[in-house]
Amino acid sequence: MDLERYIRDIPDFPKPGVIFKDITPLLNDNGAYNYTLQQLISLVSNEQIDKVIGVESRGLFFGMLMAQELNAGFVPVRKPNKLPFTTISQSYDLEYGSDAVEIHADAIEKGDRVLIHDDVLATGGTAGAVCTLVEKLGGEIVQCNFLMELTFLKGREKLNGHPTASLLQY
Ligand code: 5GP
Repeated sequence: MDLERYIRDIPDFPKPGVIFKDITPLLNDNGAYNYTLQQLISLVSNEQIDKVIGVESRGLFFGMLMAQELNAGFVPVRKPNKLPFTTISQSYDLEYGSDAVEIHADAIEKGDRVLIHDDVLATGGTAGAVCTLVEKLGGEIVQCNFLMELTFLKGREKLNGHPTASLLQY
């Protein structure tokens, strides 16, 4: 199945000069998202996964589905001040300024084998910060897993050498 047919480019979203990869047509089609899920799972080796992290916001969709498929728990990582319980936070640099991601402090136990999923790996700032959160909680990162990778931005270099896989490369 040609998944790229289900991902549309939106020019100048969310700001001028950015071409945004919109996955809502993929989510809209049952056959396409089931196929995508199986392809994402095939990127993961047979190892046991205890927790799948889905990164807000578009990493939550396939993150949850992957957790169910891998018989793992699901953990949301969110933007600041969205999670209600005790959190730990990690900031990262943007082109202009900085942003942060947060996780519940009890979401990962020491030694948990963790898969991190997001829809897009761009500069790697977001996923790199998520890796740091997992490391702070004592989790073991089995894979950083993405639907799409914008390879020219070299995001992999920000992932502290953790195994990284993506389904579509641009
Ligand atoms: P990074 O931190 O790697 O520069 O950016 C990755 C984050 O921004 C991901 O959470 C991803 O959802 C979002 N993102 C960046 N560019 C795009 C895009 O073109 N399409 C979508 N869907 N998300 C993007």
